[in-house]
Formats: sequence, structure tokens, C-alpha cells
Amino acid sequence: MGRIIPVFIPHAGCPHQCIFCNQKKISGQSETSLLNAEKQIIKYLQWIKPSSQNEIAFYGGSFTALPLKLQKDLLALSDKFVELGAIGSVRVSTRPDYIDTEIVELLKHHHVTLVELGVQSLDDNVLQMAEREHSAADVEKAVACLKAKNMRIGIQLMVGLPKQGWQSLADTVKKVIFMKPDVARIYPLLVIKDTPLEKMYKEKIYSPLSMSEAVAQASYVYERLTATGIAVIRIGLQADEELCKEDNIVAGPFHPSFGEMVKAFQYRCWVAKQLEELDSNGYDIAIVHNSKITSQLKGIKKCNEDFWRRMINKQEIKLSIEDSLQEAVFKFNTSAE
Ligand code: SF4
Repeated sequence: MGRIIPVFIPHAGCPHQCIFCNQKKISGQSETSLLNAEKQIIKYLQWIKPSSQNEIAFYGGSFTALPLKLQKDLLALSDKFVELGAIGSVRVSTRPDYIDTEIVELLKHHHVTLVELGVQSLDDNVLQMAEREHSAADVEKAVACLKAKNMRIGIQLMVGLPKQGWQSLADTVKKVIFMKPDVARIYPLLVIKDTPLEKMYKEKIYSPLSMSEAVAQASYVYERLTATGIAVIRIGLQADEELCKEDNIVAGPFHPSFGEMVKAFQYRCWVAKQLEELDSNGYDIAIVHNSKITSQLKGIKKCNEDFWRRMINKQEIKLSIEDSLQEAVFKFNTSAE
């Protein structure tokens, strides 16, 4: 399996400051230059084997909004690593309002196979509050343009944005499913130091989601996207050193295993639904499952097991492993048998 070589270009190209964003704190990088990009790639290549499956990913800024010369220089740099056989392809993240046919042709010419769009929401009111300075229609146009050129598409979404209630989130998810991107990422909104959102939080204009609300909303998005074949490649921000430095996260639902919490929540709901539907009284309950999902099934600190036991009055639920199974099956045996 190939590896992703992340090259951070913090805020580079961004024509606006979105209220929640401080890429310097998120990525730990503070400079965008050809030299810095090359350093990041060479450092990473020390740890991995060269492979045509490896991919350079320009993250943390608006790649296609960079001055054209810098875009071309960065793409020439990644071309060099393709020619050396160290990588086989490139992905970039960017804003939806900086995509047009000409730019997509340039990207394709330089081995870019996936464009990740910072979408966050498809509700114009929410986008406006977040000072994204683009509309949902811009996203639709960008997706159509990328699809016309057979480019793979990634969509980044957020939960917990100001003025984003459940209905707004559900409508966004519906529209994203209609757009059929190849991959998606889901991030809970955090209040990061030195952002306009920090000011809004301190002035009590914005309150972040609680952890349980964020898990429930991210789980909703995850469930619906994966059910339609959209691969969710990340849930929650990477807990890197810079982000986790003291005081960098001012408030919000941050947990280094947020993605695991979301998947555990899905199992919690799946089992709870079956416990509700089938009257479990008088039955022995077993969840037979593949060992690769044991920790998600149990939940962090076995919170799922405790939740189900409370639901069924402390009756036992046995978790047993069967690695021939893809995931898990739920079994009831009458104790009388
Ligand atoms: S969210 Fe994206 S577009 Fe907005 S400031 Fe951050 S990197 Fe730039």
C-alpha cells in the first residue's frame, strides 16, 4: 500500500481568512516556499520505500489559488519525484471557487489525480457565517468541472459550524451524496488559538458542540456517506504535536481518537437498535465479530458495553471473536435451551 507524503503550504493562496482556520497551528508549518516543500518531501522519503503507489499531497492552503508560477514550480517539484520513482501521483487541497477547466488541465498534466475541496457546508448561510467567501453553487460548479475532466474528487465537511443545525447538516449531506465525490473527510469544528472564531467564542457569540453532539453529528455524516459508497478517509483532526501544544485548542470537541469514537458510536446505535427491536428478556446475547473491530465495538473505556448493559438491565452481553466474519453478527440464544 502506498503512503501519503504531506506537504503543508499553510494558508498559501487563501484569499480570505475563514473564521475557524489557523493552518500554522494545525500543520506545524509556517512557511510556503519551494525549498520548504522540497525539505518536507525529502524528510518524509527517509522513512518510506519508493513506490508508484506513494502520493505527494499539498495540504493546508488553497493550492489552485497560489500564484501560477508557484503552482507550476511545486508541480515541477513533485514531477521530479515521479520521475525518480519515489511517488506515482499527487493530490492537492483547495477552495471550490478556484477551480476551472484550465487549472484542472494543468493539474492533470502534472500527475494530480485527486483534488480535495474544502467545502465545509453546502448551506449558504453557514458558509457566510464562516466567512468562506464562496457559495454552495461554487462547489457544484467545481465538482462538475473536475468530473468533466475525470479527476477524482474529495470533499471536506465540518460539523459544529456557527448557524449549522441538524437540518442544515442533513441538507448538506444529501447534496454531497448527489455530487458523488470519491472520498470525504469529516472534521468537528474546534476553536483554535488566534482565529476569529476564538474571539467569537470569548465574546460568547459562538459555542462549540459538546463531544457527544459532535460524535453524533459526525456519525450521521459518516453513516450516510459510506452507505452510498463514498470513502470517508479521515474523521477528526490529526493530533499532531503543534496542534496539541498547550493552549492551541481553546475549546471544542477534540479527542485524538475522535474517528474511533464515531465508529464506536455507530456500533453502539446498531446494537441498541437490535436490542430495542427484539425483546431480549430471557435470551443470552452474543455479538460475534471480527477481532479487528473489538475495540470499536466495546467503545472507549468499554462505554458501549456499559450502555447496552444499562439498556437491558445488566443482563450479560458476550462479545466473541470469529475472524472469518467480515464485521459482526448479533445472536440471541434462549437461555432455556
Ligand atoms: S480553511 Fe482553507 S481556505 Fe480557509 S483559511 Fe484555511 S486553508 Fe485557507
